[in-house]
Amino acid sequence: MNIGLISLGCCKNRVDSEVMLYRLKKAGHRLVSQPEKADLIIVNTCAFIEDARQEAIDKLLAAGQLKSGGQLKYLVAAGCLAQRYNKYLLEEMPELDALVGISHCDEIDKIVEQIQAGQRVIACREAGGESRPSGGRVLTTPKGMAYLRIADGCDNHCTYCAIPGIRGALRSKPLPQLIQEASRLVAREQIRELVVIAQDTAAYGMDLYAEKALPALLDGLQNIEGLEWIRLMYLHPAHMDETLIEAVASHDKVLPYLDVPVQHVSDRVLSAMNRRHDSLHLLNLMARLKERLPGLVLRTTVMTGFPGESEDDFKLLSDFVAETGFDWLGAFCYNPEEGTAAASMPDQVPDEVKAERLDSVMKLQKRITRGKNIARIGSRHKVLITAKVASQLYMGRGYYQAPEVDGITMVRSTRTLPLGQFAKAELKAVKNYDMIGEAEDESSQ
Ligand code: SF4
Repeated sequence: MNIGLISLGCCKNRVDSEVMLYRLKKAGHRLVSQPEKADLIIVNTCAFIEDARQEAIDKLLAAGQLKSGGQLKYLVAAGCLAQRYNKYLLEEMPELDALVGISHCDEIDKIVEQIQAGQRVIACREAGGESRPSGGRVLTTPKGMAYLRIADGCDNHCTYCAIPGIRGALRSKPLPQLIQEASRLVAREQIRELVVIAQDTAAYGMDLYAEKALPALLDGLQNIEGLEWIRLMYLHPAHMDETLIEAVASHDKVLPYLDVPVQHVSDRVLSAMNRRHDSLHLLNLMARLKERLPGLVLRTTVMTGFPGESEDDFKLLSDFVAETGFDWLGAFCYNPEEGTAAASMPDQVPDEVKAERLDSVMKLQKRITRGKNIARIGSRHKVLITAKVASQLYMGRGYYQAPEVDGITMVRSTRTLPLGQFAKAELKAVKNYDMIGEAEDESSQ
């Protein structure tokens, strides 16, 4: 059967999509990229915020129309939305042939068999249980890089976040299994950069080993021959300690690029968010990271308009963003999520105030990011080449840019640059959030 998969949401969802694609391919199905050519469409949904849910529903409705028009035989909803709203989806969308919750991605081949046999399948048990080996994946990322998802679920229970209710408690993958998965990606897929992800990467191992095991995992990854870059995303500040900082500093493959989502800095707001640390911890952490990691590039995420956030709280956040000088920053307006503690908190902030604050912090960050990029002009960097975009023009990323969320580096080159490999480039200019560089001669590599 021809199967198309639409993957929505974050990179953690993308890994589930890659696992499903592998299972389907192994079962003999053909994977197609155009929905019109598919007999079956799977929409792997995200339910993180209202916009994401709306996008997922729009995609399902569009695919549902193909089915009503007779162009499509089967339609499947997978992922977080299917997990969270299974009853609602079943009632509202009779055209759905299956709902596949997040613990069932690796059973998709069997589920497709059942659908073909005429069943309507609901596979949405509560997220949890042992983390199973992902087996194999059909990578959907550009050549040379892959995500390594080291855990699923989260135990932090930030009061605004619905994730623990959807994806369950923290479930780390055993360390040897991760080293095996990473080694296989490097050996078979020529992966040069692994982007390490989880809901809370720094908490890795606390469920399995009763201690934080990210430093031990980095030891293992460092020894994989052929792997050159290890990038750490989603490090909750409460779980970052000296051992982890030392592990980053002492492993040359671990990039001095850290994504540390802080959300806020006001003690009142941090406490109401249940972030499990105070502002002093954040200030000390930022200072220590800068001191110990030369060339550090920092990314963060902040939220505006959390219930009770006053003008003074917001000023603290803006001042912190300006003083820390994050290289990259993502900002979101607080959105009350069903079933979360914050949704019923008093002093909800009006939408227009949330939006004004978001706009203000993004304007501030735009200047900071531009300044950081301008400061890179004239420096020489290894760039992982990901695509050729025109004659003598390539797209890639330096260590200072994470995939999908940061800018890119365009590289001009008169010689052919192999995709998925590194080229040395001198950075010459800045364009919006991106850098422009020139490849150096092979002799100078
Ligand atoms: S750390 Fe907080 S925001 Fe992140 S997934 Fe866990 S509960 Fe949600």
